Amino acid sequence: MSTNVKYIFVTGGVTSSLGKGILAASLAKLLQARGYTVTIQKLDPYINIDPGTLNPYEHGECFVTDDGAETDLDLGHYERFLNIPTSQANNVTTGRIYQSVIDKERRGDFLGKTVQVIPHITDEIKNRIKLLGKTGNYQFIITEIGGTVGDIESLPYIESVRQLKWELGRDAMVIHLTLIPYLSTTGELKTKPTQHSVKLLLEYGVQPDILVCRTEHALNRDIKNKIALFCNVAPNAVIEARDAGTIYEVPVLMEEEQLDLVVLNQMNIPISQNADLVKWKEFLNKFKNPKHEVKIGLVGKYVELKEAYKSISEAFIHAGAANDCKVSIEWIHSESVTDENVHEKFKNLRGILVAPGFGQRGIEGKITAIKYARENRIPFFGVCLGMQCAVIEFARNVLGLKDANSTEMDPCTKSPVIDLLETQKKITNKGGTMRLGSYPCNITEGTKAWEVYKQKEINERHRHRYEFNNEYLADFEKAGMIASGINPEGGLVEIVEIKDHPWFVGVQFHPEYKSTVANPHPLFVNFVKAAIEIGQLVHTG
Ligand code: GLN
Repeated sequence: MSTNVKYIFVTGGVTSSLGKGILAASLAKLLQARGYTVTIQKLDPYINIDPGTLNPYEHGECFVTDDGAETDLDLGHYERFLNIPTSQANNVTTGRIYQSVIDKERRGDFLGKTVQVIPHITDEIKNRIKLLGKTGNYQFIITEIGGTVGDIESLPYIESVRQLKWELGRDAMVIHLTLIPYLSTTGELKTKPTQHSVKLLLEYGVQPDILVCRTEHALNRDIKNKIALFCNVAPNAVIEARDAGTIYEVPVLMEEEQLDLVVLNQMNIPISQNADLVKWKEFLNKFKNPKHEVKIGLVGKYVELKEAYKSISEAFIHAGAANDCKVSIEWIHSESVTDENVHEKFKNLRGILVAPGFGQRGIEGKITAIKYARENRIPFFGVCLGMQCAVIEFARNVLGLKDANSTEMDPCTKSPVIDLLETQKKITNKGGTMRLGSYPCNITEGTKAWEVYKQKEINERHRHRYEFNNEYLADFEKAGMIASGINPEGGLVEIVEIKDHPWFVGVQFHPEYKSTVANPHPLFVNFVKAAIEIGQLVHTG
């Protein structure tokens, strides 16, 4: 392969939500399985600097990278598929592009010139794309352009793709993901929306090289030829993307459709080795043919929107497969949990996870759920706010501090067992100012956490402003809730657990962000294992 970095752009047409992120991740997986080094980048056309300030209802989960970037949830898919970390450079928004161009303008970098979308904004976009290529770490950069072709916001991105295609020649290509709708009344697959979407791209000066067509039904040769003819692409470059049962099936479907071969051929890259998907297929097989099933309750306040807990539900898929088990998540709205109904709601569950979150809404329901898990010895896993709620529950019901709370929920509480981090006290800006990204944590030997991680120093990703108040630590430990993971620099409590309980662990960090197909997170794997084992022991009410 020539030493030039190859750039592949993924655009979307006809409608949103066709799965550009999964397509990009699947192609990357196939190239990686052929021995190439690949990374994926997402360009988001909105004006926020990052999605950190967005409500999950707007944009689903906010994913966090090791370097502390708050990013689009597609980066989670990239990491889960490729098993390599992403970084701030992998997610760029229009807000960030404009901010850096305006900063340069103020510095005087463009002195004397009118600053315009072309070339200044498009140059900045192109630089952000090429930045990953310049690291020398990757042979392929796959860049997903957010939004749908034709959106006003995505125009500068499409224009940048046009320029890069012109500059890079064979080292750049465009894959357009489109929809072939099926009309059930006439029983036909229709190609016209795809034709229109490609015409729109052509108006902007971009000829797609490959069309990936989402469809409910198989595309026969005639339809593929027709699409190829109308859209100026080679007939073998019309790729069928049938609706899949799981996102993890898509790399295999794309392999069958030879997407990777078409890409390599079009980029003039000699085909040396076949894609090695053995491990991937082993996982898929375990996921699709589980030996057991276990029901786990996920208590959160955005449960009507499953995208808000994407990394958690995916981590359960990885951990389930590792245990030959299907994890059925029962989504439980924290606001709906009360002392009166908690038994009814939870009696058939083998494990309870209390989710991350912000603000007062739903807090009391989370605390009630935790009390139930603690008292009935049901495996419990608290993540971030879930861990904080476990601390509050223990303080109120075991230590007898009736008004115990987090100062996030009650700034005047007399028992602030969870309090604002010292480093947060002077911060007023909301964007990118939490304790974010990877921090080390030391695990205490002989604890559940030690049993899970089997090592002294771990690193996990964070996204929070509040923290266990160490003034209470001695009282907690005396009463049986211990700190089994501590941040070595500041002494912050990162993991709590109850000694006298089959599995009760709360973590201040977000282990879900680091779970991948190749490396299921040990906390999730161990929690699911505990849920399977507890199966027979739990009372069934
Ligand atoms: N709201 C809590 C904090 O800021 C927990 C955050 C979270 O769950 N990500 O500390």
